[in-house]
Amino acid sequence: MNNLSELYQEVILDHNKSPRNFKKIQNATQTIDGFNPLCGDHYTIHFEIRDGKIIDIGFEGSGCAISKASASLMTIAVKGQSIETAKSLFQKMHEIFIGKNKNIDFDELGSLASLSGVSEFPARVKCASLPWHTLNNALIGKKENITTE
Ligand code: ZN
Repeated sequence: MNNLSELYQEVILDHNKSPRNFKKIQNATQTIDGFNPLCGDHYTIHFEIRDGKIIDIGFEGSGCAISKASASLMTIAVKGQSIETAKSLFQKMHEIFIGKNKNIDFDELGSLASLSGVSEFPARVKCASLPWHTLNNALIGKKENITTE
């Protein structure tokens, strides 16, 4: 990965164009806003978390292709998962975004691996990680909105 065009892979473009779970959900137990003033990414993520499990998740808002694709891919990855599984996925993705984890298991990550290139672009790390920090707040039961600044 050494230029921005490589970063915008097909998966990211697809999820930007047709974001999955891009909606308000019926029975949200938590709703958290995430804002990245550096880029202008602003999302509201709705979570239905019951009995230690993410029953449903949906998001609304707008931002750059990276942030929207990241949010879309994240909703697919964590929907139906336990809090513990989602927490460890957050940790894994966080380490990938900040470049701490270079041994990326592309098979295990699947579509999420398309986000791994952002570690080469410091300005884009906040875009990719914004939805994940919002998720983490929901998982640890914090109600505060997220801002990357
Ligand atoms: Zn952005």
